[in-house]
Amino acid sequence: MRLITHNMLKCHVKNCKNPDKQFPLQFKDVKLEQIEAERNDEFLVRMLPRLDWSALLKTTKELGIVIPEKVPANPADDDEFLQALHTAILEMHVKEGSMICNGCGHEYKITKGIPNMLLAEHEI
Ligand SMILES: [Zn+2]
Repeated sequence: MRLITHNMLKCHVKNCKNPDKQFPLQFKDVKLEQIEAERNDEFLVRMLPRLDWSALLKTTKELGIVIPEKVPANPADDDEFLQALHTAILEMHVKEGSMICNGCGHEYKITKGIPNMLLAEHEI
């Protein structure tokens, strides 16, 4: 699972309604792998407004991935920024581990790169 996906996931357990705590999900015991991908600057710039930067910053720090603290004024012209963003959200894959909701404690397991977002019956 890539971090671009993680940045759009929040807890969806029925009784978990605290928006400040159900996002971002907290990674635990993560196995990361970097898989090189072709950089598409247009896509990256287009994605920027849809990303929650503070959540991405928090998550990358926890995983030991370095991205700039702030989005530059002209991201399209900032090669260093685009490269860091590309690596962080598109090349880093979480292969194993889990994501914990800070609101309700639900644990979403990640196996072979696929997050299991299914809930138990009482959580739906
Ligand atoms: Zn939750």
